[in-house]
Amino acid sequence: MNEILERQRAFFKTGKTLPYAFRKESLLKLRDTLLENREKIEDALHADLNKERTESYMTELGLVLSDISHQIRHLRKNMKRQRAKTPLAQFKGTSFRLAHPYGNVLIIAPWNYPILLTLGPLVGALAAGNTAVLKPSEYSPKTTALLQEILGSLYPQDYVHVTTGGREITTALLQEKWDNIFFTGGERVGKIVYEAASRNLTPVTLELGGKSPVIVDRTAKIDLAAKRIVFGKFINAGQTCVAPDYVLVQEDVREKFLSSMKKWIGILYPNSLENDAYPKIVNAKHFDRLLSLLQDERILLGGKSDREKEKIEPTLLDPRPKSPVMNEEIFGPLLPVLSYKDIEEAFSVISSHPTPLALYLFCEDRKLEQKVLSRIQFGGGCINDTLIHLATNDLPFGGVGTSGLGCYHGRWSFETFSHYRSIVKKATWIDLPFRYTPYTDLKRKLIEMFLK
Ligand code: NAD
Repeated sequence: MNEILERQRAFFKTGKTLPYAFRKESLLKLRDTLLENREKIEDALHADLNKERTESYMTELGLVLSDISHQIRHLRKNMKRQRAKTPLAQFKGTSFRLAHPYGNVLIIAPWNYPILLTLGPLVGALAAGNTAVLKPSEYSPKTTALLQEILGSLYPQDYVHVTTGGREITTALLQEKWDNIFFTGGERVGKIVYEAASRNLTPVTLELGGKSPVIVDRTAKIDLAAKRIVFGKFINAGQTCVAPDYVLVQEDVREKFLSSMKKWIGILYPNSLENDAYPKIVNAKHFDRLLSLLQDERILLGGKSDREKEKIEPTLLDPRPKSPVMNEEIFGPLLPVLSYKDIEEAFSVISSHPTPLALYLFCEDRKLEQKVLSRIQFGGGCINDTLIHLATNDLPFGGVGTSGLGCYHGRWSFETFSHYRSIVKKATWIDLPFRYTPYTDLKRKLIEMFLK
């Protein structure tokens, strides 16, 4: 790894990654290769997670392709000097900020959306003119091997390199001095990454997880809310960082909400254990973890599983107080449904957990909307929908507190992988004298006039 990094350092220093034409060409090549390998990618995602092809395209490859198009469309503008005002005290001058790549970037990705969460950061890193080493997850081995094959034949190792392996490899990678580290994964490993980065004062982005709540107010369009929650929760069998983790529904609409949830689970995921369009749990370890969360729980719907296929039905729970299912991020197809009388009660449940990555509110009440947005800390979210805030290039995506640090997507991906230099360019035909010694009363008055 040290040798690869040395080569990437040397390559970056040649300046070859800097020109517009080089960056654009790299992104275009990536787009063409992904399109050529579309079937192989979908096969790998099916093998690792039993993802159905349309779901794969909608939630992985399609989002990467749209991000590449966005980066190419905005590349010239993003690379340009960004003009800023110049204060009169600095007469005569012009001011601007200019993006410059950090250099050699490390990207560590999880297994749940292995194409999107490995290539999404890569697209930003390359658009911004960096080199990159990627470490996809060992838990999605087919997709990881395919990424290594595809990117290995597309780019020289001095520019982009994919390394495989688990904890040992990541630990070794984190011993090196990177110019920027982009990590997507859980809070526990996020802390390890942050600590390692601090040894070299390396800037990091941490895209983590957490328990993302859904609030369903009595004014909500209950049936539509249920349909959109079922979509957001059970896509990828609940293994989504921004999946609704638990629902808080206002007491008087609870029964209506539950019956709509049951109806939509039946329509969208019929015969889920037999249904090839329903993803599996990534591996036996996570399958067992999820089953252990089900123990002693009151099951409202579902709860059956198939160990051989590693599948668990979409399951609704009525959790006990202090239930383990309410203590950790679920990251699977189990959805606890709690109820509240007054919104303050919902706030106190949410604030008893660490800061969530997402929050979803279903209501038709503008005042409540304002109250929720002003009172609760969370990464991002939707009003009257789930998940889709991450599927736009025009909004930054990221967490806060324990759900993450920094953001990306669209122009924020370019910014995340760039350092912005602030420059003032002074004219040479005039040189105002009052900042120079010896100071006089007049100079002091002029300085005081400019600086207030
Ligand atoms: P993880 O933290 O276990 O693993 C992420 C990466 O870290 C993997 O590449 C893994 O090999 C590596 N790793 C694991 N243990 C390590 C260690 N001790 N030292 C160094 N590296 C190590 O996460 P995961 O299980 O792959 O993914 C699930 C988590 O990721 C969930 O918490 C989920 O919410 C979060 N997530 C967040 C986002 C986001 O965009 N915010 C997206 C997807 C997943």
